[in-house]
Amino acid sequence: MKRLAILAAAILLAACGHKTAPQSTFVSAADVRPASYAGKTPRFKALLYYSDYVEEAHRDFSHQAIEFFHRLTYGEGWIMDVSTSLLENGDLSQYDVIIMPDVAPSSPADQAAFQEYMENGGGWLGYHAAAYNDQSLKWMWFRDFLGGVRFLCNTWPPQPGLVNIEGHDHDITKNLPDRYVAPATEYYQWQPDPRSNPDIRILASLAPENFPMGLKDVVFGGDFPVVWTNTKYRMVYINMGHGDECFTDATQNLLFVNSLRWVVSQSPKGDPFQR
Ligand code: ZN
Repeated sequence: MKRLAILAAAILLAACGHKTAPQSTFVSAADVRPASYAGKTPRFKALLYYSDYVEEAHRDFSHQAIEFFHRLTYGEGWIMDVSTSLLENGDLSQYDVIIMPDVAPSSPADQAAFQEYMENGGGWLGYHAAAYNDQSLKWMWFRDFLGGVRFLCNTWPPQPGLVNIEGHDHDITKNLPDRYVAPATEYYQWQPDPRSNPDIRILASLAPENFPMGLKDVVFGGDFPVVWTNTKYRMVYINMGHGDECFTDATQNLLFVNSLRWVVSQSPKGDPFQR
């Protein structure tokens, strides 16, 4: 009787695909590197460049971004300079990443410095209006940098949106759920579709179920990427960044932290988190 029960259990296990006992995947904490910080100097250095001369909702986001990223510097694991002047602190090459909430370089000197910085391995984390560009843009390098796209239309008013995470095979998305509801923001749709550029890797997009989306400015559908990287550069663009609610969701905050961490980890000087 007992032998029969064992046989039945074996058959059941086989039917479930467990032909043999599963290999142990247990890893002792002592076998992996501890989370202690061995270095005596900050791992990396960032510049957060922003402007107060932007619309109120973009200023709100910028100030919250300063607070959000400043909290991540606690313990001086990394250094963050904050400035409304891109070149105030001197050569950009000292920075491992430049964070730009809702603003992009505008003067010829700033544009030239940023372009040189990015073309020499610089890192960029840009939000929302940092990528805004239209037919008036003269700085074509910047459009190419973004993926060759310019503003097509927007949703209005700011509202939450269901976001699809596109794959979990990237360091930015590997620990994110398949989808989440992003807090209220204004979304920009782009032309041509950044997905049509083979150098662009889309990491998140608005789910089709959102459409029609908006009460005043209504977007009826179409592909709607909201987070991507141009694989020719060390950069991530994040479409969220309008108003004072963008940092209220844990999933989205994780996306933001992951994005910063990934950009920095790709440094040509080596991954500072491995030190
Ligand atoms: Zn906006």
